[in-house]
Formats: sequence, C-alpha cells, structure tokens
Amino acid sequence: MFESVVKGYAANALGQELEQFSYDPPELNDHDVRVSVTHCGLCFSDIHAIDDYYGITTFPFVPGHEIVGHVSEVGTGVSDLRKGDRVGIGWQGRSCAKCEWCSKGEPHLCADIAEMGVWTPYGGFSSSTTADRRFVYPLPSSMPSEMAAVLLCAGIAVYSPLRSRASGHRQKIGIVGVGGLGHLAIQFAHALDYDVTALSSSPDKEEEALALGADHFRVARDKESLKPMKFTFDWLLYTGHGKSDFTWLLRTLKKNGVMVMVGFPPQPFAFEPVDLVVYQLAVTGSFLGNPKDMREMLTFAQERGIKPRTELMPMSRVNDAIRRVKEGRARYRIVLVNEP
Ligand SMILES: [Zn+2]
Ligand SMILES: [Zn+2]
Repeated sequence: MFESVVKGYAANALGQELEQFSYDPPELNDHDVRVSVTHCGLCFSDIHAIDDYYGITTFPFVPGHEIVGHVSEVGTGVSDLRKGDRVGIGWQGRSCAKCEWCSKGEPHLCADIAEMGVWTPYGGFSSSTTADRRFVYPLPSSMPSEMAAVLLCAGIAVYSPLRSRASGHRQKIGIVGVGGLGHLAIQFAHALDYDVTALSSSPDKEEEALALGADHFRVARDKESLKPMKFTFDWLLYTGHGKSDFTWLLRTLKKNGVMVMVGFPPQPFAFEPVDLVVYQLAVTGSFLGNPKDMREMLTFAQERGIKPRTELMPMSRVNDAIRRVKEGRARYRIVLVNEP
C-alpha cells in the first residue's frame, strides 16, 4: 500500500516561507519508481529556486533534490528494483530520452531539462516522490542515508568536473568557497591527487579545510587578499554563492587557466575581458553529471571515505533550516529527516 496523499512543504508564492502542502500521488508510468522519502538534503539551489533566481519557478513549489528513501512501488517495466530497496535520487528525475544529449548518455543536458527535471511534479521535501528508474540509484549498503543524500547533488556536482579534469600530474587547484559544495570538493580533489588550496572569505574555516584534505588555505575576499596569488592555479572550481572580486579571482589562474563554476555568484557577475584574451583564460560551468558518473561517484566516495558533514533537522523545521543556510551557519549541509 502506498499513501493516498503525499504530504510535503511548498512555497506558495515568491519570498514566502514554506507551508504544509499535500497532493495526490501521480500515476506511475511503466518505468517509474515511487520512493518513500526518509531524508532530503537542503541545497542552496533549492533556496535559489524558491527565490526564483533561475526565472523558471512555478508555484506552489516543493523543493528538495538530494533524496534518499525506500522504494514503495515500481512500474510494470521495472524489474531490477523492489519494494523496500534503499535508493537515492538527485536533481534529475526524468529526461526526454530522445534528444541528442539523451541519445549520447548525457541526459543531465537534456534539451527538455527544465520541463523534465525532478521538479515535476514535486521535489523531496515531502513524504514521497516519483522518478524514472534511470535516475533512481541503489546506494552502497554501509553508506549512511544523510551522507548519500548530500552526495546526490553536491557530490556529483563537484566530482564530475574534478574527475574529468584530473590529468595524472598534480595540478594546482583552487577551490573557491568552503561550504556545502566546497567541503566535498576539497575531499574529492584530495582523493584525486590535486594540490588543493581552499579559498574562503572566512578565516575561521582554515582548520576544517585542512582537516578535510586541503594542502593550503588562503583567505580570499577582495583584491588585496587575491593579489599575492596571481598566476598560481591551473584551474579554479568556484563553489560559492557570495560576492567576490572576479577580476582578481581570475588573475589567480595561470595562463591558459580555467575557472569552472558549479555555484552561482550574485548577479550581475563581472570580470575583465582583456584578461581572458591576453592570459588565454576560460570561464565555464559544469552541471551535475550523467548517471554513469553518479554511480561511479557513489562507489568512489564509499571506497575513499568521502564524508559529507551533515546536520540533521526534522522536515517540519524546514524554514529554520533555510534560515540557517541563508545565514551561512550550516556546517556544512543540512539534511531534513521525515519523522516516521
Ligand atoms: Zn542541489
Ligand atoms: Zn533529452
């Protein structure tokens, strides 16, 4: 038996606190899996979506895309998952399965992604959610659910560019931001044999960054603090969401250097275009990863002891959790837990 009504927390309009929300569970398609949610991480992009930073949010909106739970029902075409299996779902719950990106195994770049994301019908701040089997991942049995939850978005977001750019020689990387994404990026980069410098605006994060595996820590908040690092890094992984001096941040790159963005800085976002030409710099982004990367990342994290630092809070305190994240007080990721 599955529940006759799904209960969750929704933003009903821009800028409002989340409120209790219920809806009828959607019909299962042949390849769908219904998951009874036990844990859901709170990602900064949930907050961005509530605030309509991306300009695509429709209300009511139930956030939540670092989902762990147990299979409660499977469609008739699903043979390899069974009721009771512990699984995870990340940001992506569907894709069109037809476009050029889906056809070449990169469904996270699906041409229809805005329509097909896990946001339809609703996310994981709820008692259950439904996704296509292709995006429902069995979890390593000894991995705690709250850690698995965080790896499903924050983990894959940083693992994918770190893995694809790892070159066998010890590249100097700057991880910008020591938060939900950054504290995982430091651990993955260390495990992938980078020479890791953690860059943070908060000097009080030094001890933790070094304990997570950073080789060096530098305070980076403005021109004065960035200037001594000119031409230092092979590449930068930008995981932050706060203000920075992007002109000087880019000048910490060696020539031919690249800044890969997985976080979203405040808009507008400005840097010096002349530097891009004369230093041959590139600014690019990386969006999550494909299902193959996701499975590989979960195994890699398990084998190499990558451990998200989590704080557990009951789902009913979701608004307190959002405030904590907005105020930069989460260490480092809040995971909401459904009361049984
Ligand atoms: Zn996320
Ligand atoms: Zn597609």
